[in-house]
Amino acid sequence: MLQQTTVGAVIPYYEKWLTLFPDLEGLARAPFQKVLRAWQGLGYYQRARNLHAAAKIFVRDHRGRIPADPETLLTVPGFGPYTTAAVLSLAFNQPYPVLDANVRRVMMRVMRIHGQADNRPDKTILERLNDEIPLRSPGDFNQALMELGALICRSRNPLCLLCPVQPACRAYDAGEQEIIPKPKKRSTRHITAVVGIIEKDGRILIQKRPAAGLLAGLWEFPGGKMRRGESREKALAREIKEELGTEVSRAKFLVKVDHSYTQFQVDLHAFACRLKGEPELKAGRRKWIASKDLQKYPFPSGSVKIIRFLENRSLKGHNTVSLL
Ligand code: SF4
Repeated sequence: MLQQTTVGAVIPYYEKWLTLFPDLEGLARAPFQKVLRAWQGLGYYQRARNLHAAAKIFVRDHRGRIPADPETLLTVPGFGPYTTAAVLSLAFNQPYPVLDANVRRVMMRVMRIHGQADNRPDKTILERLNDEIPLRSPGDFNQALMELGALICRSRNPLCLLCPVQPACRAYDAGEQEIIPKPKKRSTRHITAVVGIIEKDGRILIQKRPAAGLLAGLWEFPGGKMRRGESREKALAREIKEELGTEVSRAKFLVKVDHSYTQFQVDLHAFACRLKGEPELKAGRRKWIASKDLQKYPFPSGSVKIIRFLENRSLKGHNTVSLL
């Protein structure tokens, strides 16, 4: 949960997670949709998938225990070198150094390694860390380095005057802490999409995203990306026809929400829609549900904002059953 996220953002998720899945058996037994729902909002949904798959393997093949050897762990979904080293050092007190983005930045500066913060210097950094990591409390050493990168040796404006490793830092000696690693130019992809909130007899149509790829396995409202030069209404009609095999007979704009995912930023324009014919329901991947049940399904964060809008609207006395 903590990868690429702040501790403050994770704590409520973590606490709720432990009440839902208090042990490996509980997690392994849970339906995947329940796992995804608990993860909703954390992003990187592949992690939830891996965590669930890993729990099943630990229960099935290791009597519900996490094995304490690297070769076995590296075969488990979600266990790459970083997670394996973190589990072995933190849970089993074994001297495996972790190398995440924070540690990489600290060590590139301490060792004065120029270039971008990618995995090219990792071999050199790991050699040094393997020399430095203590046999006693290796987990504390790893956590201290990660924390140093998060709080002191920040990517911008590192707090060198407060830094406990400053006497050993070669970038600081050379006055190069702001140019190591080489600053990245950020370019975020921007997407504009339209979605249809389609109601019939008090129920709303939702569909499940494919099992692989972006936001895999989450639920969404039918719709898709707008093409260049296309109006919102045209895009909606085209997407609904392509996805559901029927036409929009009436559409009314409801709300625009935006959300920043790691890989892109999206503007979602939601329309209340009525269809001319019956939509194609694809064997469990698309279904009608009561609007009060929207909360039970895992949706991407952008769609969750639309659901909140619908709920607020309903609280104000508008009938969500007839949006049009
Ligand atoms: S002295 Fe500055 S650049 Fe060097 S490790 Fe500490 S915070 Fe980072």
